[in-house]
Amino acid sequence: VKKSGRNGWQFYTQAMQKESEEKHQLFNDLVVAIGQNELQVYYQPVVRASDGQVVSCEALVRWPQSEGKLISTDLFISVAEERGLVNRIDLFVLRNSLAFIQQMNEELDTKVHLSVNVSPRLLHLRDEDAKAWLDTLRQRQEVDLTIEITERVLVEDSDDTHEVLHELDLAGIRIAIDDFGTGYSGLSYFSRFPVSVVKIDRSFINGLNTSETETTLVETILLLANKLGVQVIAEGVETESQAAFLRANHCDMLQGYHIAPPMPEKEFLAFVKRNKTS
Ligand code: C2E
Ligand code: CA
Ligand code: CA
Ligand code: CA
Repeated sequence: VKKSGRNGWQFYTQAMQKESEEKHQLFNDLVVAIGQNELQVYYQPVVRASDGQVVSCEALVRWPQSEGKLISTDLFISVAEERGLVNRIDLFVLRNSLAFIQQMNEELDTKVHLSVNVSPRLLHLRDEDAKAWLDTLRQRQEVDLTIEITERVLVEDSDDTHEVLHELDLAGIRIAIDDFGTGYSGLSYFSRFPVSVVKIDRSFINGLNTSETETTLVETILLLANKLGVQVIAEGVETESQAAFLRANHCDMLQGYHIAPPMPEKEFLAFVKRNKTS
């Protein structure tokens, strides 16, 4: 910006203003979409590495557009986080996914676990949506539940976070560290928080068989988790050779396009049904 002088700066601020207007528009549209119940939940299976059985699934929010367009979830979640709307989304996803998985398990006589993503903001207790989210958790029945948080949440380590995570642990809810390996290097949170699952970030899985560094990192994470008695899910498994490597190195569970993409309710239910009988 500095070097390009006055015009460059002008261009920069114009671009920034355009971006902020776009985000503002996106935010307004999102408020309407939530009000009109337009968000949907997709489900991506998580399978046991040893035998391919569906043991769990991750709930992922989708915002369908007309004409089949799709807004990136990362994008609208980040706008929702910036502007304090993400708790509403997390509450919506939790309520809908709990109801659906409970019903599916009854219908198919299965015990598929559910995993939901949680924005760091949810673990601050003063927000109304956060309270409703916690109440929903406390009242849940039957469904085995994991919440996925990032290392950032644990590094910040507020009193609220501590309190909530320990309460969830007592209530039998598992805590998973999402995007494991991409955040902060310290590992002391393993002794401070009741972590039971780590999800190896897909950037590491992507490098398996092609990068020695990534391969070593994955091996090291698997050894570490094993020593700590923590379960491991590999994310973003896209090829059979990645899956084979992970099985050989005693990774517990696999998730990724190689197994199946995130799917709407009906398709996910059909997938679980097929998996059960095969
Ligand atoms: P995440 O939690 O790391 O979710 C995994 C992302 O990887 C998902 O993207 C999923 O569709 C994608 N994925 C799954 N398998 C593969 C694969 O084999 N290859 C590749 N390249 N990608 C794969 P998605 O659904 O677009 O979600 C993006 C992010 O948005 C999520 O990352 C999560 O951080 C956030 N998010 C999604 N749903 C929610 C939600 O309900 N609440 C909150 N707070 N965040 C959410
Ligand atoms: Ca996740
Ligand atoms: Ca992840
Ligand atoms: Ca992520």
